[in-house]
Amino acid sequence: MIARSKKGVLLIVSGPSGAGKSTVISRLSQLRTDLRFSVSATTRAPRPGEIDGQDYYFKTQEEFWEMIKLDAFLEHAEYVGNSYGTPAAPVDRDVAEGYSVILDIEVQGAAQVMEKRPDAVSVFLCPPSMEELERRLRGRGTDSEEKIRDRLMAAHREYAQAHKYRYIIINDDADTAVRELDAILTAERCRSSYILEGENLL
Ligand code: 5GP
Repeated sequence: MIARSKKGVLLIVSGPSGAGKSTVISRLSQLRTDLRFSVSATTRAPRPGEIDGQDYYFKTQEEFWEMIKLDAFLEHAEYVGNSYGTPAAPVDRDVAEGYSVILDIEVQGAAQVMEKRPDAVSVFLCPPSMEELERRLRGRGTDSEEKIRDRLMAAHREYAQAHKYRYIIINDDADTAVRELDAILTAERCRSSYILEGENLL
C-alpha cells in the first residue's frame, strides 16, 4: 500500500518586504494544522508589537556571529544593513515530524536553501506593482525614509530573481493569495515523487 509521506514540505516564501508575506503566512497558519513557521534570528531591532521568539529571535551582531561559527544556520544573509538567518535544527526536526515548514526569507538565503535542499518548494510572493509596494511600505509607518528607499531598491533586485522560484503569487488580494499558497502546499504534499520517496519506491 502507498501511504502518506511522513515528512513535511519545506516551503520557501520570498518576495519584497511589503509584499504581504507575513499576513499571508500567518493567515495560512491559522488554516492548516500541518504547518509550522520557522522563526529566524536577526540583528534588526524589534518593531513595535514584535515578540522575541515568536516573530524573530532578536540577536546582537556578536550572538549572530557565534551562531554562524557554530554552523547553526541552514542559511543566512545580509539584508538592508541587518543579518538574518534560519536556525537549522528546528526546521529539520519539524519536517521530520511531518510538519510543513515555512521559511519567510529573502532571495540570497532562498538560493542557499534551494542548493542545499533541492526538494524545497519555492514561492515568490509579489505585490501587484512597485507603486503599491511603495504605498504599503510608507503605510506601515515603521521605517525611516532612507530605509524605505533601501527596501525599494532591494525589491528591484529581488524581482530579478523571481524566475528561480517554482511558483509566483501576485498578492493583489490577501484572501486569494492565501488560497493560492494553501493550494500549492496541498498539491506538493500529493506529488507522486514526494510520496513514493517516503515509500522507498523511487
Ligand atoms: P523584515 O526586516 O521586514 O522583517 O525582513 C526583511 C527581509 O528579510 C524579508 O524579505 C524577510 O523575508 C527576510 N528574512 C527574514 N528572516 C530571514 C532569514 O532567516 N534569512 C533570510 N535570508 N532572510 C530573512
